[in-house]
Amino acid sequence: MTPGQWLRRLANLLNGSTLLGLLLARLAGTTTVRGPHGLAIATGYTWKLPFAGAFTVGNVVIFRAGPEAALGNPALLGHEERHSTQYACLGLPFLVLYFTAAGWSLLRHGDPASGNPFERHAGLEAGGYPGRPAEAARSRRRPGRVTGRRPGGRPGSRWTSRNTDGGP
Ligand SMILES: [Zn+2]
Repeated sequence: MTPGQWLRRLANLLNGSTLLGLLLARLAGTTTVRGPHGLAIATGYTWKLPFAGAFTVGNVVIFRAGPEAALGNPALLGHEERHSTQYACLGLPFLVLYFTAAGWSLLRHGDPASGNPFERHAGLEAGGYPGRPAEAARSRRRPGRVTGRRPGGRPGSRWTSRNTDGGP
């Protein structure tokens, strides 16, 4: 581990987020193993919420998939690792900030990630999000209104439960 990864692990231990993640992983009956970069990898999560293939609490990355699929997706693991760093910087208040930002993004963009600075920092594509311009949500609410298409925007794409990441 790098000094930064040690520091992140220590911060998330002290701020209680990793303990919360381990408790959740245990209550949900996952199998938890040591992962790369000081992370713990919990696999086989079956609870309905959150609607996500993977999410992170402290240094614990929780996957619905089994260990081979979880560790075989380095892009998604990197995305979740950045969420772990966000916990280290903000502590448990990160959860309140994250869900507030997700709600704002849902109103502005029609999905919880495109306008969420925490998801943008973690990498929308790596998290399985299409990334949508703000106009997409507005045009959906007013179906009769014709709006311009922002270059690079994907107005036809929708956030669905297929997203691999659906939480911090
Ligand atoms: Zn994410």
